[in-house]
Formats: sequence, C-alpha cells, structure tokens
Amino acid sequence: MKILVVNAGSSSLKYQLIDMETEAVLAKGGVERIGLPGSLLKAKGNGKEKVYEKDMPNHKVAIELVLHALQDNEIGVIKSMDEIGAVGHRVVASGEYFKKTTLVTPEVLKTLEEKTFELAPLHNPAAATGLRACIEVMPKTPMALVFDTSFHATMPEKAYMFGIKYEDYKEYGVRKYGAHGTSHKFVSKEAAKYLGKKPEELKIVTCHLGNGSSISAVDGGKCVDTSMGFTPLDGVLMGTRSGCIDASAVEFLARKKGLNHADMVTYLNKQCGVAGISGVSSDFRDLDNGAKEGNARCALALDMFNYQTKKFVGAYAAAMGGLDCIVFTAGIGENSPGVREGVCEGLEFLGVQLDKAENAKRVDGIHEVSAKGSKVKVLVIPTNEELVIARETAELL
Ligand code: ADP
Repeated sequence: MKILVVNAGSSSLKYQLIDMETEAVLAKGGVERIGLPGSLLKAKGNGKEKVYEKDMPNHKVAIELVLHALQDNEIGVIKSMDEIGAVGHRVVASGEYFKKTTLVTPEVLKTLEEKTFELAPLHNPAAATGLRACIEVMPKTPMALVFDTSFHATMPEKAYMFGIKYEDYKEYGVRKYGAHGTSHKFVSKEAAKYLGKKPEELKIVTCHLGNGSSISAVDGGKCVDTSMGFTPLDGVLMGTRSGCIDASAVEFLARKKGLNHADMVTYLNKQCGVAGISGVSSDFRDLDNGAKEGNARCALALDMFNYQTKKFVGAYAAAMGGLDCIVFTAGIGENSPGVREGVCEGLEFLGVQLDKAENAKRVDGIHEVSAKGSKVKVLVIPTNEELVIARETAELL
C-alpha cells in the first residue's frame, strides 16, 4: 500500500508518498505561499525535481496540484490516485479528545474543529484546512489523524498534572500534553533496534532538539514524562521560546511592559529563548560562531540550553529509576557536537561517558557517540516523523 503523508501549515503543505512494503519515499515536496502571491510547489519524484509555479488561492488547489505532480509524466510515481491507499495527516494537538491515531469520520472532523483549535491556534486549524481539502479532492480515500501528542498519552497522572485546582483540570483540560511525539516514538524504537534489545527492556531519554525542543522519558517503550507542557512553550528554552518560567514573573513582566495576555504569550513564544538571551540569533550555528568570537551572551545562551537539557536528563533518570540510553535527534541534536558534549558533561556519575572524538564526527544514519564500555549508550539518531505517520496510518487500516 502507498500512503500519502500530509503536513499542512496555514500557508504551506508538505507531503511524502511512502510505499509501505519497502518504506521507501517514492515522492516528496512542499507547497509554499498558499493564498499569497507567488505560490509554488517544489516536487521530487523519479530522482528528479520540478517546480510548479501556480496561483494557489487555497489548500484544495494545492492538494490538486500535488496529486497532479504525483501523476506527472516526468516526475510522477503513480498512474492513478486510486493507488493511494490512505492519507495520514499530522496534527499537533489532540487535547484529551484523541488518545491515538484516528480514522476521520464526520464526527471526528467536528471534534477536531470544535474542540482542539484553541489548544494549538497556529497549527490545528491549518491541519483541518488541509484535511478538508484532501477529503474534497479524494472523497473515497481513508484519512487518518496522527497526533504529535499521542505517544505521550501513556504518561501517568502524577506526571501530566499541574499543581492547579483539580476541578479546573477537569473543566478546562489544563494539563501536560507534550509534543514531538512521533519523533520521540521513532527514535526510541530505533535505539532499541540498534542496541539489539526489546523496547520493554530499556530506560531511554530522548532529546528532540530543534527549533522547538523537547525531552522525553521512555521507560519500557512507553513515554512516562516529557518536557513540553500544555503547549510547546514549556520545557527548555528554545530558538525563540522562553521554556518554563515562573507564572508570577509572566504577570510581572506583562505589567511592566504594558502587554495584554495575547501579546505576552507572543512575546514568550517569539522574542525569548536563545534569540532573546543572545540578542543575535535563534540558530545554533550563529550562536556557535558568536561564542567562538567571544560574544558572552551567545555563550550564555548555549550554556543555558545545555544546562537545562542536562537537568531534564537527570530528572528523567530519577523518574525512571535508571538510564540505559540517551538519544539526540532533530536539527540541533543531530548536527551539534557542542550541544551533545555540553549536555553529557557532568553526567558521568550516571554512567554516561562520551567519546569526544567520535562525537565530533559527522556520520550518516545512527551514530554511537558514547565511549566503549559506557554504561549509558549515547546515540545520535536522525528522526523521521513522516515514516511514523505513514506506519500509524497503515496500522490503523
Ligand atoms: P524544526 O523544529 O523547525 O523542525 P529542526 O529540527 O530542523 O527544526 O532544527 C532546526 C535547528 O537546527 C536550526 O535552528 C539550527 O539551530 C539547528 N542546526 C541545524 N544545523 C546545525 C549545525 N550544523 N550546528 C548546530 N545547529 C544546527
């Protein structure tokens, strides 16, 4: 079966067509600037790339063009739309309404639209728009919703509850949901496979470190805690997000800066994090360069990021009562030896021994960067969220 994976943003739509027999990516691409002047599709297939410049006023026109590209006589990889067995849609937030990958029915669509938008106002409405467009263009093809939050649904109550009034948790659903679940799931499974163990035998801390960063405790193959909270603002400081901060400081800052609630949330999401600390950039490559040139605020931003990430690793080792493996993934986790070294430094007491020379190397695929004999294995594993979405969709069918 071939599965189309769709990740719709408000003005973008990324896709991959995956053959589930071989798990090979047959075609992939992305539409940019939907509803804006200069919209275009960059599509790959058959080892070739093609750019389609076309006015795309909405997601329906965009998905029609994607289907056209999939059947194109140059870069096309299918003869008819009927070859697509199902579509898997990435959805950021599920609240408590969906605990796992869900087949789309009119009822499901209604719940998605009426209940979850306020949990992820930037992401979920876009996913629903992409979904509606696909339903219109492919009315007979099954659609699945794959949630970033599902992998975290196994967290125990003591881990996901905030210390607020229980009645308010019940009434408003305010609790920890986490994010990047497909990534944490993928890399923790890959780690078990690499180590030749069953997931049930392992206590793993997975560090998804990218523009958004989250750390998860995966005990016996199940997520038992994660650093992102009610929204992806929580946890470690990130590119432009503050990470966790005393709620009273938020109120104090809002008052001093004359910001209303919405503006304050925007401030914490867009102007803080390593970009706010360094005053230079949200990109870790720029911070590395700045720190090397003696910029103390760039160095501080990196120190804070490594320190906060390390604290989650330690906390999760304690939460699980042990640690067998640390996994680094996503843009920073896969590409920054400095961050990996900074996070692992000082964790020797837990049995973590990094091989610094190995860690400095760039290797394709899974890369073991712990020293021979290190009690805790340290692995760099490239993430593949699309493959997880395709697998979940195929399993559901
Ligand atoms: P997203 O969360 O948007 O999916 P990514 O996982 O692609 O983000 O991560 C993007 C980040 O990865 C960039 O902002 C950059 O800081 C970081 N990054 C990419 N390459 C490197 C590198 N060679 N060294 C350090 N950081 C890097």
